[in-house]
Amino acid sequence: GSGDYHGEVVVLGSGPGGYTAAFRAADLGKKVILIEKYSTLGGVCLNVGCIPSKALLHASKVITETEEMSEHGISFGKPKVDADGLREWKNSVVGKLTGGLAGMAKQRKVTVVEGYGRFTGANSIEVETGDGTKTVTFDQCIIAVGSVPVELPFVPHDDDRVVDSTGALELNPIPKKMCVLGGGIIGFEMATVYDALGAEVTVIEMMDQILPGADKDIVKPLQKRMEGRLTIHLKSKVTEVKAQKNGLKVTWEDDKGESQSQVFDKMLVSVGRTPNGKKIDADKAGVKVTDRGFIEVDEFQKTNVPHIFAIGDVVGQPMLAHKAVHEGKVAAEVAAGEKRAFDARVIPSVAYTDPEVAWCGVTEAQAREKGLKIEKGVFPWAASGRALSNGRSEGMTKLIFDPEDDRVIGGAIVGTNAGDLISEVALAIEMGADAVDLGHTIHPHPTLSETVNFAAEMFEGTITDLV
Ligand code: FAD
Repeated sequence: GSGDYHGEVVVLGSGPGGYTAAFRAADLGKKVILIEKYSTLGGVCLNVGCIPSKALLHASKVITETEEMSEHGISFGKPKVDADGLREWKNSVVGKLTGGLAGMAKQRKVTVVEGYGRFTGANSIEVETGDGTKTVTFDQCIIAVGSVPVELPFVPHDDDRVVDSTGALELNPIPKKMCVLGGGIIGFEMATVYDALGAEVTVIEMMDQILPGADKDIVKPLQKRMEGRLTIHLKSKVTEVKAQKNGLKVTWEDDKGESQSQVFDKMLVSVGRTPNGKKIDADKAGVKVTDRGFIEVDEFQKTNVPHIFAIGDVVGQPMLAHKAVHEGKVAAEVAAGEKRAFDARVIPSVAYTDPEVAWCGVTEAQAREKGLKIEKGVFPWAASGRALSNGRSEGMTKLIFDPEDDRVIGGAIVGTNAGDLISEVALAIEMGADAVDLGHTIHPHPTLSETVNFAAEMFEGTITDLV
Protein backbone atom coordinates (compact mmCIF):
# COMPACT_ATOMS: atom_id res chain seq x y z
CA GLY A 1 0.00 0.00 0.00
CA SER A 2 0.99 3.64 -0.11
CA GLY A 3 3.28 5.13 2.49
CA ASP A 4 4.89 1.81 3.28
CA TYR A 5 8.25 3.42 3.96
CA HIS A 6 9.48 6.96 4.27
CA GLY A 7 13.11 7.97 4.25
CA GLU A 8 14.67 11.39 4.62
CA VAL A 9 17.29 10.04 2.24
CA VAL A 10 16.46 7.10 -0.02
CA VAL A 11 19.30 5.46 -1.94
CA LEU A 12 18.45 3.42 -5.04
CA GLY A 13 21.11 0.74 -5.62
CA SER A 14 23.64 -0.65 -3.12
CA GLY A 15 26.94 -0.74 -5.05
CA PRO A 16 30.01 1.04 -3.71
CA GLY A 17 28.38 4.38 -4.51
CA GLY A 18 25.03 3.50 -2.95
CA TYR A 19 26.16 1.85 0.28
CA THR A 20 28.74 4.58 0.90
CA ALA A 21 26.10 7.28 0.42
CA ALA A 22 23.58 5.44 2.62
CA PHE A 23 26.06 4.90 5.46
CA ARG A 24 27.40 8.45 5.31
CA ALA A 25 23.89 9.96 5.32
CA ALA A 26 22.95 7.76 8.29
CA ASP A 27 26.12 8.79 10.14
CA LEU A 28 25.09 12.40 9.57
CA GLY A 29 21.78 11.72 11.32
CA LYS A 30 19.46 11.06 8.40
CA LYS A 31 16.79 8.37 8.35
CA VAL A 32 17.96 6.28 5.42
CA ILE A 33 16.37 3.62 3.22
CA LEU A 34 18.53 1.59 0.84
CA ILE A 35 16.77 -0.17 -2.04
CA GLU A 36 18.54 -3.11 -3.72
CA LYS A 37 17.14 -5.72 -6.07
CA TYR A 38 19.63 -8.42 -5.00
CA SER A 39 19.62 -10.17 -1.66
CA THR A 40 23.19 -9.06 -0.93
CA LEU A 41 24.54 -5.53 -0.73
CA GLY A 42 27.66 -4.36 -2.55
CA GLY A 43 26.54 -4.10 -6.16
CA VAL A 44 28.73 -5.10 -9.08
CA CYS A 45 32.00 -4.31 -7.32
CA LEU A 46 31.63 -6.68 -4.39
CA ASN A 47 29.49 -9.39 -5.94
CA VAL A 48 30.64 -9.70 -9.56
CA GLY A 49 33.35 -7.10 -10.12
CA CYS A 50 36.40 -5.72 -8.34
CA ILE A 51 36.59 -8.18 -5.46
CA PRO A 52 35.94 -11.62 -7.02
CA SER A 53 38.16 -10.70 -9.99
CA LYS A 54 40.99 -9.77 -7.65
CA ALA A 55 40.64 -13.04 -5.75
CA LEU A 56 41.08 -14.92 -9.04
CA LEU A 57 43.91 -12.63 -10.17
CA HIS A 58 45.75 -13.36 -6.95
CA ALA A 59 45.53 -17.09 -7.62
CA SER A 60 46.69 -16.49 -11.20
CA LYS A 61 49.71 -14.51 -10.08
CA VAL A 62 50.73 -17.26 -7.67
CA ILE A 63 50.56 -19.74 -10.57
CA THR A 64 52.51 -17.71 -13.12
CA GLU A 65 55.17 -16.47 -10.70
CA THR A 66 55.63 -20.02 -9.46
CA GLU A 67 56.12 -21.20 -13.03
CA GLU A 68 58.69 -18.46 -13.62
CA MET A 69 60.64 -19.35 -10.47
CA SER A 70 62.14 -22.24 -12.44
CA GLU A 71 64.38 -19.62 -14.05
CA HIS A 72 65.65 -18.71 -10.57
CA GLY A 73 66.53 -22.19 -9.45
CA ILE A 74 63.28 -23.23 -7.83
CA SER A 75 60.92 -25.59 -9.61
CA PHE A 76 57.45 -26.68 -8.63
CA GLY A 77 55.19 -29.23 -10.21
CA LYS A 78 52.44 -28.30 -12.63
CA PRO A 79 49.59 -26.73 -10.64
CA LYS A 80 46.47 -28.84 -10.12
CA VAL A 81 43.61 -26.47 -10.77
CA ASP A 82 40.45 -27.29 -8.85
CA ALA A 83 37.95 -24.83 -10.30
CA ASP A 84 35.34 -25.71 -7.66
CA GLY A 85 37.76 -25.05 -4.82
CA LEU A 86 38.90 -21.77 -6.33
CA ARG A 87 35.30 -20.66 -6.93
CA GLU A 88 34.38 -21.54 -3.36
CA TRP A 89 37.26 -19.52 -1.98
CA LYS A 90 36.36 -16.54 -4.21
CA ASN A 91 32.74 -16.77 -3.08
CA SER A 92 33.80 -16.88 0.55
CA VAL A 93 35.78 -13.66 0.12
CA VAL A 94 32.72 -12.00 -1.42
CA GLY A 95 30.51 -13.43 1.34
CA LYS A 96 32.67 -11.94 4.09
CA LEU A 97 32.41 -8.49 2.54
CA THR A 98 28.70 -8.51 1.70
CA GLY A 99 27.97 -9.92 5.16
CA GLY A 100 30.04 -7.10 6.64
CA LEU A 101 27.97 -4.55 4.72
CA ALA A 102 24.71 -6.03 5.99
CA GLY A 103 26.05 -5.67 9.54
CA MET A 104 27.12 -2.08 8.92
CA ALA A 105 23.68 -1.22 7.55
CA LYS A 106 22.03 -2.69 10.63
CA GLN A 107 24.38 -0.90 13.00
CA ARG A 108 23.44 2.41 11.40
CA LYS A 109 19.72 1.59 11.34
CA VAL A 110 19.63 1.85 7.57
CA THR A 111 16.47 0.09 6.37
CA VAL A 112 17.22 -2.21 3.44
CA VAL A 113 14.30 -2.81 1.09
CA GLU A 114 14.94 -5.74 -1.25
CA GLY A 115 13.39 -5.40 -4.68
CA TYR A 116 13.50 -3.56 -7.97
CA GLY A 117 12.66 0.14 -7.69
CA ARG A 118 11.17 2.58 -10.18
CA PHE A 119 10.19 6.21 -9.73
CA THR A 120 6.48 6.97 -9.64
CA GLY A 121 6.84 10.69 -8.88
CA ALA A 122 9.23 13.38 -7.70
CA ASN A 123 9.14 12.00 -4.15
CA SER A 124 8.24 8.35 -4.55
CA ILE A 125 9.59 5.02 -5.70
CA GLU A 126 7.67 1.77 -6.12
CA VAL A 127 9.59 -1.36 -5.18
CA GLU A 128 8.64 -4.86 -6.36
CA THR A 129 9.55 -6.89 -3.30
CA GLY A 130 9.10 -10.60 -2.66
CA ASP A 131 6.26 -9.45 -0.44
CA GLY A 132 4.35 -7.39 -3.02
CA THR A 133 4.75 -3.85 -4.28
CA LYS A 134 5.83 -1.32 -1.67
CA THR A 135 5.87 2.43 -1.89
CA VAL A 136 8.91 4.28 -0.64
CA THR A 137 8.59 8.04 -0.27
CA PHE A 138 11.51 10.38 0.25
CA ASP A 139 12.59 13.93 0.95
CA GLN A 140 15.82 13.42 -0.97
CA CYS A 141 16.97 10.57 -3.18
CA ILE A 142 20.37 9.35 -4.37
CA ILE A 143 20.35 7.31 -7.58
CA ALA A 144 23.16 4.73 -7.63
CA VAL A 145 21.87 2.12 -10.07
CA GLY A 146 25.20 1.43 -11.77
CA SER A 147 25.73 -0.27 -15.11
CA VAL A 148 25.60 -3.62 -16.93
CA PRO A 149 27.81 -5.20 -19.62
CA VAL A 150 27.21 -4.11 -23.22
CA GLU A 151 25.81 -6.86 -25.46
CA LEU A 152 26.62 -7.02 -29.17
CA PRO A 153 23.86 -7.57 -31.74
CA PHE A 154 25.85 -10.10 -33.78
CA VAL A 155 26.84 -12.25 -30.79
CA PRO A 156 24.57 -15.12 -29.68
CA HIS A 157 24.24 -13.97 -26.07
CA ASP A 158 21.70 -16.73 -25.35
CA ASP A 159 24.35 -19.43 -25.94
CA ASP A 160 25.90 -20.44 -22.61
CA ARG A 161 29.35 -20.63 -24.17
CA VAL A 162 29.13 -16.83 -24.53
CA VAL A 163 29.69 -15.09 -21.19
CA ASP A 164 30.01 -11.57 -19.84
CA SER A 165 32.31 -10.70 -16.93
CA THR A 166 29.82 -12.13 -14.44
CA GLY A 167 29.76 -15.46 -16.26
CA ALA A 168 33.54 -15.46 -16.67
CA LEU A 169 34.01 -15.14 -12.91
CA GLU A 170 32.15 -18.42 -12.44
CA LEU A 171 34.97 -20.44 -14.10
CA ASN A 172 32.35 -22.87 -15.30
CA PRO A 173 33.98 -24.50 -17.13
CA ILE A 174 37.59 -23.48 -17.75
CA PRO A 175 37.66 -23.98 -21.51
CA LYS A 176 40.46 -25.27 -23.69
CA LYS A 177 40.26 -22.40 -26.15
CA MET A 178 38.89 -19.06 -25.09
CA CYS A 179 38.26 -15.88 -27.04
CA VAL A 180 38.20 -12.56 -25.19
CA LEU A 181 36.43 -9.91 -27.21
CA GLY A 182 37.73 -6.54 -26.02
CA GLY A 183 41.16 -5.89 -24.49
CA GLY A 184 40.14 -3.24 -21.98
CA ILE A 185 40.77 -3.55 -18.24
CA ILE A 186 38.05 -6.11 -17.52
CA GLY A 187 38.78 -8.22 -20.63
CA PHE A 188 42.49 -8.30 -20.05
CA GLU A 189 42.13 -9.10 -16.35
CA MET A 190 39.94 -12.08 -17.17
CA ALA A 191 42.30 -13.12 -19.99
CA THR A 192 45.08 -13.16 -17.38
CA VAL A 193 43.01 -15.41 -15.11
CA TYR A 194 42.00 -17.92 -17.78
CA ASP A 195 45.54 -18.07 -19.16
CA ALA A 196 46.95 -18.91 -15.74
CA LEU A 197 44.26 -21.54 -15.19
CA GLY A 198 45.34 -23.31 -18.36
CA ALA A 199 43.10 -22.05 -21.15
CA GLU A 200 44.56 -21.11 -24.51
CA VAL A 201 43.44 -17.47 -24.69
CA THR A 202 43.07 -15.17 -27.70
CA VAL A 203 42.31 -11.48 -27.12
CA ILE A 204 40.77 -9.54 -29.99
CA GLU A 205 40.87 -5.74 -29.67
CA MET A 206 39.67 -3.12 -32.13
CA MET A 207 42.09 -0.35 -31.09
CA ASP A 208 45.83 -0.39 -31.77
CA GLN A 209 46.69 -1.24 -28.16
CA ILE A 210 45.33 -3.17 -25.20
CA LEU A 211 44.07 -1.05 -22.28
CA PRO A 212 43.13 1.94 -24.44
CA GLY A 213 43.40 5.04 -22.26
CA ALA A 214 46.83 4.21 -20.87
CA ASP A 215 49.95 5.44 -22.68
CA LYS A 216 51.43 2.93 -25.13
CA ASP A 217 54.86 2.86 -23.51
CA ILE A 218 53.23 1.96 -20.19
CA VAL A 219 51.19 -0.87 -21.69
CA LYS A 220 54.14 -2.33 -23.60
CA PRO A 221 55.79 -4.32 -20.77
CA LEU A 222 52.45 -5.98 -20.01
CA GLN A 223 51.81 -6.69 -23.65
CA LYS A 224 55.28 -8.14 -24.10
CA ARG A 225 55.01 -10.46 -21.11
CA MET A 226 51.53 -11.64 -22.05
CA GLU A 227 52.40 -12.15 -25.71
CA GLY A 228 54.63 -14.94 -24.49
CA ARG A 229 51.59 -16.58 -22.91
CA LEU A 230 48.52 -15.75 -25.01
CA THR A 231 47.58 -14.40 -28.45
CA ILE A 232 46.66 -10.74 -28.93
CA HIS A 233 45.10 -9.44 -32.16
CA LEU A 234 45.08 -5.63 -32.30
CA LYS A 235 43.26 -3.41 -34.83
CA SER A 236 40.97 -6.38 -35.33
CA LYS A 237 37.22 -6.19 -35.57
CA VAL A 238 34.98 -9.13 -34.83
CA THR A 239 32.24 -9.25 -37.45
CA GLU A 240 30.49 -12.53 -36.79
CA VAL A 241 30.08 -15.12 -34.04
CA LYS A 242 28.35 -18.31 -35.06
CA ALA A 243 27.18 -20.89 -32.55
CA GLN A 244 28.17 -24.29 -33.91
CA LYS A 245 28.08 -27.74 -32.39
CA ASN A 246 31.88 -27.88 -32.19
CA GLY A 247 32.21 -24.41 -30.68
CA LEU A 248 31.80 -20.72 -31.40
CA LYS A 249 33.10 -19.75 -34.81
CA VAL A 250 34.48 -16.24 -34.47
CA THR A 251 35.24 -14.22 -37.58
CA TRP A 252 37.20 -10.99 -37.52
CA GLU A 253 38.80 -8.52 -39.86
CA ASP A 254 42.51 -8.37 -38.96
CA ASP A 255 44.90 -5.40 -39.00
CA LYS A 256 45.48 -5.93 -42.71
CA GLY A 257 41.78 -5.93 -43.50
CA GLU A 258 41.76 -9.65 -44.10
CA SER A 259 39.09 -11.96 -42.77
CA GLN A 260 40.18 -14.53 -40.16
CA SER A 261 38.17 -17.10 -38.29
CA GLN A 262 38.69 -19.61 -35.55
CA VAL A 263 36.56 -21.88 -33.38
CA PHE A 264 36.58 -21.37 -29.60
CA ASP A 265 35.00 -23.25 -26.67
CA LYS A 266 34.12 -20.10 -24.80
CA MET A 267 33.89 -16.41 -25.45
CA LEU A 268 34.00 -13.49 -23.04
CA VAL A 269 32.41 -10.33 -24.38
CA SER A 270 34.02 -7.39 -22.59
CA VAL A 271 33.40 -4.39 -24.79
CA GLY A 272 32.27 -1.94 -22.17
CA ARG A 273 29.42 -1.23 -19.79
CA THR A 274 26.19 0.63 -20.28
CA PRO A 275 24.49 2.70 -17.54
CA ASN A 276 21.13 1.67 -16.04
CA GLY A 277 19.63 5.18 -16.18
CA LYS A 278 16.85 4.31 -18.60
CA LYS A 279 15.42 1.47 -16.53
CA ILE A 280 14.06 3.35 -13.51
CA ASP A 281 11.31 5.58 -14.95
CA ALA A 282 13.44 8.61 -14.03
CA ASP A 283 11.19 10.79 -16.19
CA LYS A 284 8.35 10.30 -13.68
CA ALA A 285 10.52 12.14 -11.16
CA GLY A 286 11.47 14.73 -13.78
CA VAL A 287 15.09 13.51 -13.87
CA LYS A 288 16.74 13.87 -17.28
CA VAL A 289 18.49 10.83 -18.72
CA THR A 290 20.73 11.04 -21.81
CA ASP A 291 20.14 8.89 -24.91
CA ARG A 292 22.87 6.55 -23.75
CA GLY A 293 21.31 6.16 -20.32
CA PHE A 294 23.56 8.42 -18.26
CA ILE A 295 22.21 10.88 -15.68
CA GLU A 296 24.01 14.22 -15.72
CA VAL A 297 24.95 15.86 -12.43
CA ASP A 298 26.63 19.04 -11.18
CA GLU A 299 29.59 19.24 -8.77
CA PHE A 300 27.20 18.60 -5.86
CA GLN A 301 26.10 15.35 -7.55
CA LYS A 302 22.67 16.93 -8.06
CA THR A 303 20.58 16.02 -11.09
CA ASN A 304 18.37 18.60 -12.81
CA VAL A 305 15.90 17.92 -9.95
CA PRO A 306 17.62 19.55 -6.94
CA HIS A 307 16.51 17.03 -4.28
CA ILE A 308 17.57 14.05 -6.40
CA PHE A 309 21.27 13.16 -6.66
CA ALA A 310 23.06 10.60 -8.81
CA ILE A 311 26.46 8.90 -8.33
CA GLY A 312 28.68 6.14 -9.68
CA ASP A 313 28.65 4.41 -13.05
CA VAL A 314 25.26 5.90 -13.96
CA VAL A 315 26.68 9.45 -14.03
CA GLY A 316 29.50 8.66 -16.45
CA GLN A 317 33.11 7.69 -16.98
CA PRO A 318 35.33 6.53 -15.54
CA MET A 319 33.20 3.63 -14.31
CA LEU A 320 35.28 2.84 -11.25
CA ALA A 321 34.38 1.89 -7.70
CA HIS A 322 36.57 4.50 -5.99
CA LYS A 323 34.94 7.23 -8.07
CA ALA A 324 31.49 5.95 -7.04
CA VAL A 325 32.54 5.91 -3.37
CA HIS A 326 33.86 9.46 -3.51
CA GLU A 327 30.73 10.71 -5.25
CA GLY A 328 28.59 8.84 -2.72
CA LYS A 329 30.20 10.75 0.14
CA VAL A 330 29.74 14.07 -1.65
CA ALA A 331 26.05 13.39 -2.37
CA ALA A 332 25.31 12.25 1.20
CA GLU A 333 27.07 15.22 2.74
CA VAL A 334 25.37 17.72 0.47
CA ALA A 335 22.03 16.02 1.20
CA ALA A 336 22.74 16.40 4.93
CA GLY A 337 23.36 20.12 4.46
CA GLU A 338 27.16 20.09 4.55
CA LYS A 339 29.34 22.24 2.33
CA ARG A 340 30.89 19.74 -0.02
CA ALA A 341 31.48 19.38 -3.74
CA PHE A 342 33.25 16.99 -6.08
CA ASP A 343 36.60 18.66 -6.64
CA ALA A 344 39.02 15.76 -6.99
CA ARG A 345 41.79 16.55 -9.47
CA VAL A 346 42.46 13.00 -10.52
CA ILE A 347 40.81 9.58 -10.48
CA PRO A 348 43.40 6.81 -10.79
CA SER A 349 42.82 3.88 -13.17
CA VAL A 350 44.32 0.46 -12.56
CA ALA A 351 44.43 -2.76 -14.53
CA TYR A 352 45.19 -5.53 -12.03
CA THR A 353 46.92 -7.59 -14.66
CA ASP A 354 50.42 -9.02 -14.14
CA PRO A 355 52.29 -6.70 -14.30
CA GLU A 356 49.74 -4.15 -13.11
CA VAL A 357 49.20 -0.98 -15.10
CA ALA A 358 48.16 2.20 -13.28
CA TRP A 359 47.80 5.79 -14.32
CA CYS A 360 46.29 9.07 -13.13
CA GLY A 361 46.04 12.65 -14.26
CA VAL A 362 47.40 13.78 -17.62
CA THR A 363 48.73 11.08 -19.94
CA GLU A 364 51.22 11.77 -22.73
CA ALA A 365 48.60 10.90 -25.32
CA GLN A 366 46.16 13.40 -23.81
CA ALA A 367 48.84 16.09 -23.66
CA ARG A 368 49.59 15.57 -27.35
CA GLU A 369 45.90 15.66 -28.21
CA LYS A 370 45.30 18.88 -26.30
CA GLY A 371 48.56 20.52 -27.38
CA LEU A 372 49.57 20.70 -23.71
CA LYS A 373 53.26 21.33 -22.97
CA ILE A 374 54.65 18.71 -20.62
CA GLU A 375 57.93 17.28 -19.45
CA LYS A 376 58.53 13.87 -17.96
CA GLY A 377 60.72 11.85 -15.68
CA VAL A 378 60.97 8.17 -16.46
CA PHE A 379 62.57 5.50 -14.33
CA PRO A 380 63.04 2.00 -15.75
CA TRP A 381 62.66 -0.73 -13.16
CA ALA A 382 65.61 -2.61 -14.66
CA ALA A 383 67.60 -0.20 -12.45
CA SER A 384 65.58 -0.92 -9.29
CA GLY A 385 67.26 -3.27 -6.86
CA ARG A 386 63.93 -4.35 -5.46
CA ALA A 387 62.34 -5.06 -8.85
CA LEU A 388 65.39 -7.11 -9.83
CA SER A 389 65.26 -9.04 -6.52
CA ASN A 390 61.64 -9.79 -7.26
CA GLY A 391 62.61 -11.11 -10.66
CA ARG A 392 60.22 -8.56 -12.15
CA SER A 393 62.28 -5.77 -13.64
CA GLU A 394 60.05 -5.15 -16.68
CA GLY A 395 58.31 -2.21 -14.99
CA MET A 396 58.56 1.51 -15.49
CA THR A 397 57.54 4.61 -13.54
CA LYS A 398 56.74 7.79 -15.41
CA LEU A 399 55.89 11.18 -13.99
CA ILE A 400 54.46 14.01 -16.06
CA PHE A 401 55.29 17.57 -15.07
CA ASP A 402 54.03 21.02 -15.93
CA PRO A 403 57.19 22.72 -17.29
CA GLU A 404 55.96 26.11 -15.96
CA ASP A 405 56.29 25.21 -12.29
CA ASP A 406 57.58 21.59 -12.22
CA ARG A 407 54.38 20.42 -10.57
CA VAL A 408 53.30 16.82 -11.07
CA ILE A 409 50.21 16.68 -13.27
CA GLY A 410 50.18 13.03 -14.20
CA GLY A 411 51.84 9.71 -13.70
CA ALA A 412 51.79 6.15 -14.92
CA ILE A 413 53.34 2.99 -13.57
CA VAL A 414 53.61 -0.49 -15.00
CA GLY A 415 55.00 -3.24 -12.83
CA THR A 416 54.07 -5.47 -9.91
CA ASN A 417 52.02 -3.53 -7.34
CA ALA A 418 51.64 -0.51 -9.65
CA GLY A 419 48.04 -0.15 -8.42
CA ASP A 420 49.26 0.50 -4.88
CA LEU A 421 52.14 2.69 -6.00
CA ILE A 422 50.01 5.09 -8.05
CA SER A 423 48.40 6.49 -4.88
CA GLU A 424 51.54 8.45 -4.10
CA VAL A 425 51.31 10.14 -7.49
CA ALA A 426 47.61 10.89 -6.94
CA LEU A 427 48.42 12.42 -3.55
CA ALA A 428 51.25 14.47 -5.08
CA ILE A 429 48.86 15.88 -7.68
CA GLU A 430 46.12 16.63 -5.12
CA MET A 431 48.67 18.40 -2.88
CA GLY A 432 50.18 20.35 -5.76
CA ALA A 433 53.59 18.74 -5.16
CA ASP A 434 56.50 19.43 -7.50
CA ALA A 435 59.51 17.40 -8.56
CA VAL A 436 61.63 18.60 -5.63
CA ASP A 437 58.93 17.55 -3.15
CA LEU A 438 58.97 14.01 -4.55
CA GLY A 439 62.74 13.99 -5.01
CA HIS A 440 63.43 15.18 -1.44
CA THR A 441 61.00 12.84 0.29
CA ILE A 442 62.98 9.97 1.78
CA HIS A 443 61.57 6.70 0.47
CA PRO A 444 62.42 3.40 2.15
CA HIS A 445 65.07 1.31 0.40
CA PRO A 446 64.80 -1.11 -1.29
CA THR A 447 61.17 -0.67 -2.35
CA LEU A 448 59.24 -0.25 -5.55
CA SER A 449 57.96 3.05 -4.13
CA GLU A 450 61.46 4.44 -4.59
CA THR A 451 60.83 4.38 -8.33
CA VAL A 452 58.49 7.37 -7.88
CA ASN A 453 61.25 9.23 -6.07
CA PHE A 454 63.78 8.21 -8.76
CA ALA A 455 61.46 9.28 -11.61
CA ALA A 456 61.27 12.76 -10.02
CA GLU A 457 65.07 12.81 -9.72
CA MET A 458 65.43 11.70 -13.34
CA PHE A 459 63.36 14.74 -14.32
CA GLU A 460 65.44 17.05 -12.16
CA GLY A 461 68.68 15.51 -13.33
CA THR A 462 69.74 14.92 -9.72
CA ILE A 463 69.82 11.15 -9.74
CA THR A 464 73.25 9.80 -8.91
CA ASP A 465 72.96 6.07 -8.82
CA LEU A 466 70.57 3.71 -10.46
CA VAL A 467 70.06 1.01 -7.86
P1 FAD B 1 26.98 -0.87 -9.13
O1 FAD B 1 28.10 -1.49 -8.43
O2 FAD B 1 26.75 -1.17 -10.55
O3 FAD B 1 25.70 -1.23 -8.28
C1 FAD B 1 24.42 -0.87 -8.65
C2 FAD B 1 23.46 -1.65 -7.80
O4 FAD B 1 22.17 -1.14 -8.00
C3 FAD B 1 23.41 -3.12 -8.15
O5 FAD B 1 23.54 -3.89 -6.99
C4 FAD B 1 22.04 -3.29 -8.77
O6 FAD B 1 21.47 -4.55 -8.50
C5 FAD B 1 21.26 -2.21 -8.11
N1 FAD B 1 20.13 -1.71 -8.88
C6 FAD B 1 20.17 -1.22 -10.15
N2 FAD B 1 18.95 -0.80 -10.53
C7 FAD B 1 18.14 -1.03 -9.48
C8 FAD B 1 16.77 -0.79 -9.25
N3 FAD B 1 16.02 -0.18 -10.16
N4 FAD B 1 16.23 -1.16 -8.07
C9 FAD B 1 17.01 -1.75 -7.12
N5 FAD B 1 18.31 -1.98 -7.26
C10 FAD B 1 18.88 -1.62 -8.44
N6 FAD B 1 36.22 -0.85 -10.46
C11 FAD B 1 37.31 -0.53 -9.76
O7 FAD B 1 37.41 0.60 -9.30
N7 FAD B 1 38.30 -1.44 -9.53
C12 FAD B 1 38.24 -2.69 -10.01
O8 FAD B 1 39.15 -3.50 -9.78
C13 FAD B 1 37.11 -3.07 -10.77
N8 FAD B 1 37.01 -4.32 -11.27
C14 FAD B 1 35.89 -4.67 -11.96
C15 FAD B 1 35.80 -5.95 -12.45
C16 FAD B 1 34.69 -6.36 -13.14
C17 FAD B 1 34.60 -7.78 -13.65
C18 FAD B 1 33.62 -5.44 -13.34
C19 FAD B 1 32.39 -5.85 -14.06
C20 FAD B 1 33.70 -4.15 -12.86
C21 FAD B 1 34.85 -3.74 -12.16
N9 FAD B 1 34.98 -2.44 -11.67
C22 FAD B 1 36.10 -2.10 -10.98
C23 FAD B 1 33.93 -1.42 -11.86
C24 FAD B 1 33.08 -1.28 -10.60
O9 FAD B 1 32.53 -2.54 -10.30
C25 FAD B 1 31.99 -0.25 -10.81
O10 FAD B 1 32.55 0.98 -11.20
C26 FAD B 1 31.20 -0.02 -9.52
O11 FAD B 1 30.62 -1.21 -9.06
C27 FAD B 1 30.12 1.03 -9.74
O12 FAD B 1 29.43 1.25 -8.57
P2 FAD B 1 27.98 1.85 -8.53
O13 FAD B 1 27.73 2.16 -7.10
O14 FAD B 1 27.83 2.93 -9.51
O15 FAD B 1 26.99 0.71 -9.02
